Amino acid sequence: MTDIKRRKFVSMLGASAAVIPVSALVASLPSRADDAPVVDPESAQAQALQYVSETEIPEQMCSNCTLYTGAEGEDKGPCPLFPGSSVMAAGWCSAYVPKA
Ligand code: SF4
Repeated sequence: MTDIKRRKFVSMLGASAAVIPVSALVASLPSRADDAPVVDPESAQAQALQYVSETEIPEQMCSNCTLYTGAEGEDKGPCPLFPGSSVMAAGWCSAYVPKA
């Protein structure tokens, strides 16, 4: 094995060692945000943002808000304004920003 190949091999081993702990960390995280409990519209934060689980403005809903990161077709998903919780895809709040 040439010196260059050995260095490349050793550097790849180092990268592999770094990847394994990260993947172990991800696997140990709590369930995905999609599985997180749905925001309670009566909670203080929801009230402050006027969050509703079903929008009254048909063209504005969480599923077409820039902040919504739920999968297309799912009935709920994550929103950074409610960490650890899910918002309803059909929901809405006063921080709504339409997707570009
Ligand atoms: S910012 Fe408001 S409207 Fe947008 S996804 Fe979050 S809760 Fe829904």
